[in-house]
Amino acid sequence: MINTKGAVIKENHPRPFFEWEKPLVDQFWQVLQDVRLVSGEADNWVWKVGGVQTFSVNSAYTHVRRDSEVEGSPIFSKLWRCKVVPSALFTAWRVLENKITIRVNLERRGVMVENALCCLCGKEEESYCHLFFDCSFAWRVWCFCYKWLGVSFVSHIDPMSNFAQFKMSQSLDSVNVVWSTIWVGVVSEIWNHKNFIIFKRGVTDVSEMFAMVQVNVWFWISAKSRSASFSYPYWCLEPLACMRIV
Ligand SMILES: [Zn+2]
Repeated sequence: MINTKGAVIKENHPRPFFEWEKPLVDQFWQVLQDVRLVSGEADNWVWKVGGVQTFSVNSAYTHVRRDSEVEGSPIFSKLWRCKVVPSALFTAWRVLENKITIRVNLERRGVMVENALCCLCGKEEESYCHLFFDCSFAWRVWCFCYKWLGVSFVSHIDPMSNFAQFKMSQSLDSVNVVWSTIWVGVVSEIWNHKNFIIFKRGVTDVSEMFAMVQVNVWFWISAKSRSASFSYPYWCLEPLACMRIV
């Protein structure tokens, strides 16, 4: 390994590459061939996508999606309209695209994981369909949500279908933006709770997960919609009435 000063760093125990990493290493090496180090000049980051040298989420998204068939699909138009913070939006986008780093995906990429069982229930393989929609704990969070909203669904375990069905028929567009926002709230909270269990040794608490969904969505909508001036207790008691004034 060579650092920016040109010095060779010896590694006593370099980690061997996985098969799937080799094309990335080759690609990285090709990029490094054109790098010319200038003595005394400090390194700096340059964003080279889209003809501008300033990073933006929009330019990154456009670059990543440039060859995708689903670009501009109604599902993603629906997602981009949600009144959520970028981190939750990013999580929901990764779930819809199956780009989330769940244990089954990690195993397929050759990353060693302790086991492939779901960290919420510990009983079934942690696929993205299971973790977010089929897991008994995730399912109970969705049930709390349906009960709160006064609806019942035959819930799909496919993320795209689940997101598409999560709406109130014959309602204003603005109402369904809130429904979509709640969907993102549930998905991102399940993801946050999974990380809480893994990295902070937390325990699964369905009531707390649902309460966090209510808090987060209320906070996001209140912050991003000028007409959303309802209180948090009113939001918890009358969510449908609140949606009509957003
Ligand atoms: Zn599970």
